[in-house]
Amino acid sequence: MTGGVSLDLAAMQKRKAGIVKGMTGGILQLLKAAGVTALQGHGRLLPDRQVEFTAHDGTKKVLVAKHVLLASGSIPTELRSAPFDGRHVVDSWGALELDAVPGRLGVIGAGVIGLELGSVWRRLGAEVTILEALPEFLAIADQQLAKEALKQFRKQGLDIRMGARVSGARVEGGAVAVSYEDAKGPGQGIVVDRLIVCIGRRPFTKDLLAPGTGVAVDDRGFIVVDDDCRTGAENVWAVGDCVRGPMLAHKAKEEGVAVADRIAGLYAHVNYAVIPSVIYTAPEIAWVGQTEEQVKATGRPYKVGTFPFLASGRAKAMEASQGFAKIIADRQDDTILGVHVVGPMAGELIAEAVLAMEYAASTEDLQRTIHAHPTLSEAIHEAALAADKRAIDMPNR
Ligand code: NAD
Repeated sequence: MTGGVSLDLAAMQKRKAGIVKGMTGGILQLLKAAGVTALQGHGRLLPDRQVEFTAHDGTKKVLVAKHVLLASGSIPTELRSAPFDGRHVVDSWGALELDAVPGRLGVIGAGVIGLELGSVWRRLGAEVTILEALPEFLAIADQQLAKEALKQFRKQGLDIRMGARVSGARVEGGAVAVSYEDAKGPGQGIVVDRLIVCIGRRPFTKDLLAPGTGVAVDDRGFIVVDDDCRTGAENVWAVGDCVRGPMLAHKAKEEGVAVADRIAGLYAHVNYAVIPSVIYTAPEIAWVGQTEEQVKATGRPYKVGTFPFLASGRAKAMEASQGFAKIIADRQDDTILGVHVVGPMAGELIAEAVLAMEYAASTEDLQRTIHAHPTLSEAIHEAALAADKRAIDMPNR
């Protein structure tokens, strides 16, 4: 039995800042240990692999390199009709720095960031309304998964409004009046204390490329690269959010490692078909490979196995038995095509599926792999068994 539990947001924010500082400081230590000189300031690529470096104190120098790797990342997209003011209307960074739990929190965009931040502040006590322009919830995810996640979020009190396109926000008297249009027509609105705008991110390449470098940028602002992350300029490479592909830290990291290996003359390969996606909500959402909708669209014969966490002893003991694991596999050759999990520790559980797909495993391989009992990982095992109607811990349908 515990006593009354209350939130100390200042202590929580201080702890978070300490962890962030430790982790980023750790990167500088790692660079130093690896013999890397880190210069902090602004870099601008000039022709012939020269880089103009401007330190934070304004002093400039030109560096010449054998190879240059561009990894300038991305920044939040601003909604022109609801500009960031750093206090009432904030981006994802600002949303992590709020110094009090807002009574009413508005979120524009039910994408990855909107759901994560909306879910956090809801759990800390805010009344959260999420406005999403698209009619379909989490269109990028498997729709069975998305449906379950939406059900769970609504049960937690998240007010998620689909088909709601925000057209403007006005700060008056310490509150934000947000106007949007939905199926009922224009003129809909909500009033909130804080508004988070998370309608996507765009590549950040401002002042990065001087004329004549030979590095091209496409019409959406991404640096153009080939499959090996080579730009159009010799020995100039680019990786991460500023190039094509999902904006994910783990994808950026693998591209960076692959480029370093290529420069060192080693073999390198990034398997873009097997990149895990994780949405850090509660419950978590994670997947790898194709959704059922994508598989169906290819016309390939497939089979599906699912396992609900309700039938998992471990999940029950954790008071976290919402959601399910789902496997989609080729009906003929049994290749695993996609794995989708919504539920406890989904972001951890998906690693097994990533490994299985990286090794081109079949569902039979997973079926014959012994999973410890009682663990959450049995959900993946049981879903694989269910794909062939061989589930043990629940009736086969
Ligand atoms: P997103 O593209 O995931 O979602 C943005 C949403 O905003 C879309 O659903 C879009 O329809 C909606 N939208 C756009 N304009 C709107 C309007 N006027 N009114 C209402 N809704 C509107 O973008 P995000 O959530 O900002 O994330 C940006 C990027 O960062 C993504 O690529 C994401 O994958 C990445 N990211 C990933 C993680 C993670 O993997 N956990 C965490 C943070 C960021």
